[in-house]
Amino acid sequence: MKTFKDYPALRDHIATHEKTLYFSSQTSTVIPFNFLEGEMVLGNLSTIAGKIRLLADGVLEISGGVTWKDARSFARSKGRDLLMSPTEESAGVLAGIATSCTGERSFGFGTLRDQVERITYLDFNGAEQILSRDKFLEDSELLREYQQDFLPYQKMKNGPFPRLERETDLMIGMEGQLGVVKEIHLETVPYKNLNYFLIPLGKWEESCEMHLDIFNKVQAFRDHILSCELIDENSLRYLGSDRIPKGRDIIVIETSSLEKVYEEFLTNLGMDLEDIIELSEGDYHHLRMEVPRKVQEDNSRRAVIKKGTDAQVSPENFGKLLGIYKEMGKKGIPYILFGHFGDGHLHFNFLPDKEQVDTCEDLLKEFYKEIKLLKGSPFAEHGIGLIKQNFIRPFLGENQFEIFKDLKKRYDPYNQFFPQGFLNL
Ligand SMILES: Cc1cc2nc3c(=O)[nH]c(=O)nc-3n(C[C@H](O)[C@H](O)[C@H](O)COP(=O)(O)OP(=O)(O)OC[C@H]3O[C@@H](n4cnc5c(N)ncnc54)[C@H](O)[C@@H]3O)c2cc1C
Repeated sequence: MKTFKDYPALRDHIATHEKTLYFSSQTSTVIPFNFLEGEMVLGNLSTIAGKIRLLADGVLEISGGVTWKDARSFARSKGRDLLMSPTEESAGVLAGIATSCTGERSFGFGTLRDQVERITYLDFNGAEQILSRDKFLEDSELLREYQQDFLPYQKMKNGPFPRLERETDLMIGMEGQLGVVKEIHLETVPYKNLNYFLIPLGKWEESCEMHLDIFNKVQAFRDHILSCELIDENSLRYLGSDRIPKGRDIIVIETSSLEKVYEEFLTNLGMDLEDIIELSEGDYHHLRMEVPRKVQEDNSRRAVIKKGTDAQVSPENFGKLLGIYKEMGKKGIPYILFGHFGDGHLHFNFLPDKEQVDTCEDLLKEFYKEIKLLKGSPFAEHGIGLIKQNFIRPFLGENQFEIFKDLKKRYDPYNQFFPQGFLNL
């Protein structure tokens, strides 16, 4: 493994064109880093000193090993707030560009793709190049066809292949395959007082009527509710948490408009308001982060590669998605369900023992067939990395493969940036 202390050292390494998988905090759920030592050259970027600066108009300039947690505290110390809030706060912000990371606040604020004004990256010679969100990519017939194929995913957090429209898209969701992201300009908003509520409801497997009612109602509150997340009863039991109502699923919301949300949303859910619990911000984040963290830790301890989903569907298909998960839950393998409920984007995770791993793989193959039929996005958040490559091919056609080849030739002529990645499929 190579560890970089500063950008000059990184530039020197890049200029050798040695094939390298650069990484930041290694929280990717689609790259099994603990299986890769000795398999490929890994380049540690998290050791490069982080720098954050507030520019005019509330834009943050971020470079080096800054995490989302660092960026949020810095923004708040200046009376600003991030629009993006990935659940794993120890992940790197620059890595977030590479993975096109999304998160809880995508419900209220949309995607990172639209929040990044400018990206500076190091190209295959280690030279700095600047990409602007305001500039469109050079037009071509092939690109137009690729963009046409992307249309069904335009409103999703991420599609099965990256959006290619503006210059900054060349780094967003490319998983580090075209260069190393060095610095970004990220939009922020003025900090507002926030409130958090926990809504208990029955188990989704028994009846999802209430879940769907909340899902439909919450869509009208995207300007007032920043996040709307589900943690099911299986997840809560798996956590062993005793601070929350037992035997129930929960939906947690984050709002910046207390009165409106209380009077027009919570009071219209047909529930006893006394059952709804106000949470502190710390409890909300803790609760939300603990489930996927425990899955990641348990899988790593048991040397099992994660068997989970990351699919998003359009609102009209959300009931069908829950139906598919219900069937998957009947296969006799323990599972949990949690995630970005308001966005129609949930993570169903099998918790298999070693003997059940192959069955999970087969079930996931069937799952992606159904997602394709629903025109959903198979990987809306965590990307493709290495472990989702098995599932991506049916979502790609000639246009995508041709564009991928062209991008690699132009931006990575020595095939040195994460050569095992999806662009080389
Ligand atoms: C508990 C948990 C919760 C999570 N929640 C979310 C969530 O809400 N939303 C979400 O989007 N993801 C989530 N993830 C996945 C993961 O945190 C994200 O993919 C994150 O962006 C990875 O950041 P990292 O610093 O750990 O990157 P790494 O895992 O180190 O690397 C990930 C990828 O980014 C590339 N990369 C890293 N740094 C750079 C760089 N400077 N330039 C170019 N390429 C680079 C690497 O080559 C690799 O392909 C979660 C993961 C866990 C374990």
